[in-house]
Amino acid sequence: MGSISNVLSAGPRKLEGQVAVITGGASGIGACTARLFVKHGARVVVADIQDELGASLIAELGQDASSYVHCDVTNEDDVAAAVDHAVAKFGKLDVMFNNAGVCGPPCFRISECTKEDFERVLAVNLVGPFLGTKHAARVMAPVRHGSIISTASLSSSVSGTASHAYTTSKRALVGFTENAAAELGRHGIRVNCVSPAAVATPLARAAMGMDMDDDAVEAIMENSANLKGVGLKVDDIAAAALFLSSDDGRYVSGQNLRVDGGVSVVNSSFG
Ligand code: NAD
Repeated sequence: MGSISNVLSAGPRKLEGQVAVITGGASGIGACTARLFVKHGARVVVADIQDELGASLIAELGQDASSYVHCDVTNEDDVAAAVDHAVAKFGKLDVMFNNAGVCGPPCFRISECTKEDFERVLAVNLVGPFLGTKHAARVMAPVRHGSIISTASLSSSVSGTASHAYTTSKRALVGFTENAAAELGRHGIRVNCVSPAAVATPLARAAMGMDMDDDAVEAIMENSANLKGVGLKVDDIAAAALFLSSDDGRYVSGQNLRVDGGVSVVNSSFG
């Protein structure tokens, strides 16, 4: 067990010697987190369905520090294999980042949502993190150590910001995270969510309209932001994941860390 003095004297590399699996690690928030984790001394397994993008990230990060596995998070065998790959290649698993997600079709009217579209979003955004948590805990519990993080969303706190399926998936993910934290704490495993507001990635562009460039996406985001003039970046989400993964977050579990500039809790009637 780490002591407070260890935490306070920790060097700048906060994940030295640690091993992480990042689902949805080939793009956006996941790729940014993979880069940050490697910078902090971790070895990272990038698990995704975008094989070319994943391979080019590994080429950038280096074979000693990273590895790619094709992993559809809705497929239990794939998720189990990604966890087992981390243990086989790097010797253990300290951090599981259940980050893969889809926005699905922009169904804002219940009458327009098909059952298949609704179930697909739940499969990736909710069943995926369940499977990641299940298989990460399988290897973490025997060594009584680990941090499991899932990417939820602003829509886990605020209704009407995303499609019905997306909001349902992310809100249920927070509930699952709290329940998992309640069970797994006795095994030394922390379980948390990170909840970003909208940030410019392929997923956000898909949600807002594919023909938008980053500047247009960021202009829309700034307009709806509570914290003005800062601009949420994928790096901010990666930094939150780093906090929850490292000893800095050693007593944080069962939480939904909102990285949204306060917009989820602010009723902005101030002038
Ligand atoms: P992104 O599109 O850049 O990345 C998502 C990644 O998930 C992609 O690499 C994609 O290939 C992968 N993925 C999709 N389905 C998968 C599957 N079945 N199995 C494995 N991988 C799969 O988007 P992002 O914004 O970086 O999304 C990361 C997470 O952040 C998602 O869970 C998303 O819901 C969440 N999020 C994003 C925003 C935002 O505005 N970008 C806001 C709140 C939450």
